[in-house]
Parts: sequence; C-alpha cells; structure tokens
Amino acid sequence: MIFVTGGAGFIGANFVLDWLAQSDEPVLNYDKLTYAGNLNNLASLKNDKRHVFVQGDINDSAQLCALLFEYQPRAILHFAAESHVDRSITGPAAFVTTNINGTFELLEAARTYWLSLEDDARADFRFLHVSTDEVYGTLGPDDAAFSETTPYAPNSPYSASKAASDHLVRAYHHTYGLPVLTTNCSNNYGPYHFPEKLIPLIITNARAGKDLPVYGDGLQVRDWLYVTDHCAAIRRVLEAGKPGETYNVGGWNEQTNLSVVHTICELLDELQPKAEGSYKDQIKHITDRPGHDRRYAIDARKLERELGWKPKENFTTGLKKTVAWYMANDVWTKQVQSGEYLQWVAQQYNED
Ligand code: NAD
Repeated sequence: MIFVTGGAGFIGANFVLDWLAQSDEPVLNYDKLTYAGNLNNLASLKNDKRHVFVQGDINDSAQLCALLFEYQPRAILHFAAESHVDRSITGPAAFVTTNINGTFELLEAARTYWLSLEDDARADFRFLHVSTDEVYGTLGPDDAAFSETTPYAPNSPYSASKAASDHLVRAYHHTYGLPVLTTNCSNNYGPYHFPEKLIPLIITNARAGKDLPVYGDGLQVRDWLYVTDHCAAIRRVLEAGKPGETYNVGGWNEQTNLSVVHTICELLDELQPKAEGSYKDQIKHITDRPGHDRRYAIDARKLERELGWKPKENFTTGLKKTVAWYMANDVWTKQVQSGEYLQWVAQQYNED
C-alpha cells in the first residue's frame, strides 16, 4: 500500500486515479478536505476497495501514526499543501501551518514508523515530497532554466513555505537517514484543476461570459506541464529515484500568461463560438500581484537522463484535452464554484 496526503486535490487526485488505473496496489488517501480538496474528483473510485479515504489534517500526529502503524505503507507521497500564491499573500498563516508545521509532523510520524520496520522494509521505504519550482525564485529573460543546484530564493509566502518544507525533508535524510525523494515541478494543468488557477479560471470565466483577469502586462513566463506527465514522473522517481536526491520536473514549455489566455480563447472560439466577437474581447488587465515572479523555467534533464522520464503531452494537445474536459464537466465546475470560493473571487476581483 502507498500512503498519499492531499489526494483529493488537483494533482493528488489525478495521481490516485492514475495509480489505480495502472496498479492494483491500494492507496490510503489522507486529506483534510479544505476548499481545494474535493471527493468528487475521486467519484469513479466510490466502490473501489483499493482506495481507502481518511479525512484528516497532517498536523494531527496521533492520527498519522495510528494510520501508518495500522496500514503499514511502503511509501508516503506527500502532496497535501496550501497551494495558491494569491491566498498566501492575503493569508500566509495557513501556509506556515500546513506546509511547514504539517510537513514536520508528517516527517516525524514517518520517522517513528520507519524506525519500527524490519530491515528489508526499512531499506525499501520511501518518503516522496512533492514540491514546486517556485522555491528557486524568479529568472531574467536570458537566465538558464532552474536546475537541481540552483540556489533557493523564494519570493512569496507560498514558495517560502514550500522551500522550508523542502529543507526539512532534506534534513530528515541527512540527520536521520530517512529515505526521502523530492520533486520540484513546474506549473501543472489538466482535469480537476480548481478554477482559481490561471488555466481553469480562464476557461470557466470565458464560457460564463465573465472578465478574463490578466495580471499586469501578462508577460510573466511559466513552464507548463500536463498533470498526468507530472504523475508519471512521480511514479518513476518513487520507483527508481535515489534517496536524498531531488528531481526537477518540467515540460520544456515556456509560455507567457497572455499567450496562454489567447490560446484558450482561440480554442473556445473554435469549439464554442460566441454569437459575436471573440473570447479575447473579455480579457481585462488587472493590477499585478505584489512580488510577482517574472519567469520560471525548469531544466528537467536530470530526470530524463537518470530515470528515462519524458513528458508525453505537448502544450497544444494538453490544452485541447483540458478545454474539452471543462466543457464536458460543467457539474464539477459548478460544485467547486460555490460558497467559500465565490467569497474569495469577490474579494480578489471586486465582483458583485
Ligand atoms: P491543491 O490545492 O489542489 O490540493 C491540495 C490538497 O491538500 C487538497 O485536497 C487539500 O484538501 C489538502 N490539504 C490542504 N491542507 C491539508 C492539511 N493540513 N492536511 C491534509 N490535507 C490538506 O494543490 P495541488 O495543485 O494539487 O498541489 C499538490 C502539491 O503539488 C502541493 O504540494 C503543491 O505545492 C505541489 N505543486 C503544485 C503545482 C501546481 O501547478 N499545481 C506545481 C508543482 C508542485
């Protein structure tokens, strides 16, 4: 069995679905179900005995220990986090509590459990920490892409909290010998992505006839990776990664935010034409995010060279699939766009 934290969120749910589509090894899915956690993402696993869901907080060390000793997983894959940069600017405390303290509690529970294992199981055990390229800070237009040796320089409370968690994970390897693996991935997109993030926000707002908010000049550059390619990278690192190592994961696909928005509008103009004009007419430039990183780019050569991973989707095919998924899943979108989410949007974009 594998123990997944945050498996009801965007990447975690895609990972659990993908894992169980390819393997019969059961998953213990531990998730607090914050606004970003959604069991509808896992509806297809409702009667699947290979999936055990437990609602809980990674700060609850007693519950974590009890579950680890009861289910005896061979690995922990740690996705749970507060993940939205804008929310970390208006409310950083939750980011410190979950991303730093929560990762610490999880590491402590993992260490206690790991030490209790027989020699063979202890040697085979892995703690895989899912992290982000944002820990490296920002790049100038001509800088080389982030590699595993790029110094950490996080600029937002989100990236600072993830950087702190990466350091704790590293320290548990160097100090206690816990067999950890860390992946630092670029921006993901795909199904089940909460519509506060750029790509799903633009798709859902465009189709609802709302403004398409673009921060500042929209020329910030991000490196996009289709979520199932990230899931495949995590599976590969779990299988063959060397304990104590970090692996950068990215799609070699740099795009400005504005060009992403334009491409989505063009796809929608084709798939669901408006009575008049283009979806591009809905674009509205808004005040830039404070401390907004200008450019991220990932050098994924270590993962490609050492573990033979390569992304399968390119941006054109991945974005087409994503737009098609949102067009076919209006019910999912309506369910997540309620309550707390609507209040958040109103506060962000001063909507009524
Ligand atoms: P998400 O916000 O969609 O999901 C996070 C999940 O964690 C949710 O299901 C939430 O309920 C759960 N959670 C939050 N706090 C918790 C707590 N205290 N205890 C237990 N569960 C809790 O995030 P995501 O986009 O799926 O990201 C998953 C991981 O991947 C994060 O660690 C993030 O930093 C990392 N990451 C994300 C991206 C991206 O583009 N989304 C890129 C690189 C790395």
